[in-house]
Amino acid sequence: MRQMEKGKQLYEGKAKKIFVTENSKQYLVEFKDDATAFDGVKKDTLEDKGILNNRLSAIFFGLLESRGIETHYIETISEREMLVKALEIIPVEVIVRNIAAGSLSKRLGIPEGEALNKTVLEFSLKDDELHDPMINHYHIYAMELATAEEMAAIEASALKINDILTAYLKDKGITLVDFKLEFGRYEDRVILGDEISPDTCRFWDSSSGEKLDKDRFRRDLGGVVDAYREVLRRLEGGE
Ligand code: UDP
Repeated sequence: MRQMEKGKQLYEGKAKKIFVTENSKQYLVEFKDDATAFDGVKKDTLEDKGILNNRLSAIFFGLLESRGIETHYIETISEREMLVKALEIIPVEVIVRNIAAGSLSKRLGIPEGEALNKTVLEFSLKDDELHDPMINHYHIYAMELATAEEMAAIEASALKINDILTAYLKDKGITLVDFKLEFGRYEDRVILGDEISPDTCRFWDSSSGEKLDKDRFRRDLGGVVDAYREVLRRLEGGE
């Protein structure tokens, strides 16, 4: 870790703050302890969540980089901060699903926990005021959110990321149920941004089915930070 001059704050989201740095091609991301769910209706502060998500995201980004997927991650700066490539975020959330859960179960009546016969990709417009509505390729092109070439790259990357993460987590006794990705433009290409953490993924213990992710917060199950800590313990190779 190294000292880093933090410039002015560019943006504050629900779980992260973004700062400019002395290098116009790099941003600094600070992970907060704040947790929100249901469009910000449910709110709390979970001590150390930001520290855990900073570490977990760094591990996942490092793994993906080692497997040939370019991400915005550059290096970890402090407990809560990482240096990243400054992306122009594409305002489309990409959801990857292996097992039915959450909004998909509600929408389609597929019981939570039922394996999907084929990986499902979904897209949502990243817009809090509109409550991140689900959109399809027609909307994406009509609104000029991304080009067809960019969407092809995003989809191929999302599926490859799913394969890499699923295999890696399986080995740690964790089932990757679903997760959300965000991509952005950097120089002449589209690369992975945002975070990969229990805030943005559903992780289930492979043997007990216990939830090790933000659903513990959404559903008032308690032990939220302990579950995030357990994920980190498994990834760091603790017993
Ligand atoms: N997700 C996310 N941010 C969002 C919406 C969803 O990170 O704004 C993640 C969520 O953690 C889960 C997956 O995307 O891993 C699918 O979420 P779902 O559509 O089931 O929505 P939810 O049930 O969380 O409302």
